[in-house]
Order: sequence, then structure tokens, then C-alpha cells
Amino acid sequence: MSWPPLREELRGIEPYGAPQLPIDLVPVQLNVNENPYGPSAACIADIAAAASEAAATLNRYPDREFVALRQVLAWYLSSDTPAGIVPEQVWAANGSNEVMLQLLQAFGGPGRTAVSFAPTYSMYPEYARDTHTRWVAGRRADDFALDLDAARDLVKTEQPNVILLPSPNNPTGTALPPDAVAMLCETAGGNDVSGIVVVDEAYGEFRRADVPSALELLPSYRNLVVTRTMSKAFAGAGLRLGYLAAAPEICDAIRIVRLPYHLSAVTQAVALAALRHAPELLGKVDELRRERDALVVWLRDEGYDVADSDANFVLFGRFADRHAVWQGLLDRGVLIRETGPDGWLRVSVGTPEEMAAFRSALTDVNGERA
Ligand code: PMP
Repeated sequence: MSWPPLREELRGIEPYGAPQLPIDLVPVQLNVNENPYGPSAACIADIAAAASEAAATLNRYPDREFVALRQVLAWYLSSDTPAGIVPEQVWAANGSNEVMLQLLQAFGGPGRTAVSFAPTYSMYPEYARDTHTRWVAGRRADDFALDLDAARDLVKTEQPNVILLPSPNNPTGTALPPDAVAMLCETAGGNDVSGIVVVDEAYGEFRRADVPSALELLPSYRNLVVTRTMSKAFAGAGLRLGYLAAAPEICDAIRIVRLPYHLSAVTQAVALAALRHAPELLGKVDELRRERDALVVWLRDEGYDVADSDANFVLFGRFADRHAVWQGLLDRGVLIRETGPDGWLRVSVGTPEEMAAFRSALTDVNGERA
């Protein structure tokens, strides 16, 4: 037996994660789709006061049901759907990664199947692996949209218990039209297995104006789950707070698998304080959208293939040797992500200064390689 005595299928596997390099060595970090704008002094002071208040009662366990936080998250989500969202429809955990792992713990498992459509977020197969859920990946069309007929056929054949649909998708930026979500909810709910459909809206706030949130479909489909996060548009990646909206029975089911007191008192207090500053923290979303659209235009003018993006990142290519381009950019102090289909690279949208640095580094790398 090799050491340590790890599960067979985990041996030799690298932990998931993009390189984390010191900011003084690599000043332009555009690799993990963070919001580049930090909080204001007033917001920092409010968050610090909330953390300090929570510190006074750290000898006690936190509110296991995070009632106050669920109320505020329900209020926040209600702005995205005419039917509104009530606290019983909300669940939260330490990042939307944990929310989705809990969904797989509750609704996946041995003898059960999870489906998504590649290229897509590379953590999904890891949730499946870690919960012993069978993993099936369909393919997206060449423009990274869902091929609806193929998707319907796959769902009918595989009868998945969980379908994971990011909208916008990572790493391509592709948003899903509501009729695609509706069709998959109907197909997945209409068989003996009765699967749930998880629309992962981690980047939902960045979508273009003509794309509604899947939250609007919640009153029509009890098997629909919409996940969100404070990590991206909300500028709170360090906070680790992800959440979902779904039928109350789905939230109740997750309570069976969650660890007790999984959301610390500090997390709850800090998330509540951050939500009080929602207008400020979300205040750069429009600017980031404009910066994204300008980046797409610039890259296309330069002759690259670029996927349409509803997110705060852009997938572009195609490169015979994408690693060399990634390395060339890194050598010039710009870190992007080597991910997605072969030949493509993904860049997050940063400040105007960061994007100028990216454009100039890419032009430079190209000139050198020409
Ligand atoms: N979904 C998608 C599509 C993502 O890209 C990410 C983060 N990169 C997440 C979920 C998880 O984010 P978090 O755990 O920070 O909420």
C-alpha cells in the first residue's frame, strides 16, 4: 500500500487551483475572475465593526440556520425576479462551490448520475468524484451554446439526478436562454428519476441586459435550483459566501448533509455588513461590462477568435502553442488562465489600466512570435 493510504482514484491527482503568485512579482492578475475593485474605507470600517461585534460572542456557536443572512439574501435576489424570493427558498455555504458540493451530497451519490456540457467549469467533475456520483459530460456546439436537441437526448438517455448548467458558462462566457433552462427542467423532471437542474449563476450579475435570470423560472419548476456567489460581481471572493434559491423542500434536504454550524459567526456578520453596502460593491458591474465588451471588440480587431461573453472574462484564441503565449504574458507581468479547449486562453476583466497592460503585453508577445 502506498503512503498515504489515499482512496485509489485520488492517487496522483493534483489539487484544483490556478497559480497564486505574489502581486509584487506579477502586478496584473487576470486569472481567477475576481472583481478588481476593493471596498471603500467606509465599507471596510463597517465590515470591521461587524467582525468585532461577532468576536464578542465567539465562545458560542453561530446561528446554524443563519436566519438574518437568509432574509437579506432573499431580499437581494428578489430584485431579479418579479415573483420575489422568500428566506425559506434560500440556502448558503462557504462559496458556491460548497453549495454545489452539498447539492451533489444530497441529490447525487452512488448509483446516481450528474450531467453537464463541456467545455465547462472544471470543478463539476470533482464534486461528482468526491460524492461517488457517476459523471457524464455532453458537448456544447462549436459556438459554445447548448445544442438543445442533443442536450434533451442526453438527459433522456442518462436520466441524471443532477444537471449542472452554468449561465454564464465558465470558461466560455456563454449565457443560457430561459427556454433552454425550461426545456431541461421539463425533461429532467419528467422521467422516473426526477432530476434537479442547477443553474450556476456565479457570473449572473454580469449578463447582458436581454438575458433574464433563471430565478424567474423558479415559480414554474420545483426541480430548478439557481446558485449565486458573493465572489464575483459582489467583489467578495475572500469572504467565501455562496448561496442558492430553490423550493423550500430542496433547502431542507441540504440541511441533512451540511456540517453543523458550517457558516461561521464571522462569515455571517461580514456577509451581512457587505450586503448593507450592496450598491457600492456592485457599483462597478456596468463599468466591467463595458470594459469586457471593449476587450471583445479589440481582440476581434486583432484577428482573434473570441467567444461572446456575458461574464467578467473573455475566452480567446486560437493559438498553436497557448502555453507559450500564457508564459510570454506572465514574463511581462500579466497572469491570465490557461484553461478551456485546446488553443484558447481566458482573461478576466480588470481595471482600465490592467486591460491596457494586458493589450500591450499581448501585442508584444505576438510581435515576438511573428
Ligand atoms: N461556478 C463557476 C462557474 C465558477 O467559475 C466559480 C469560481 N470560479 C464558482 C462557481 C465558485 O465560486 P465560489 O466558490 O467562489 O462562489
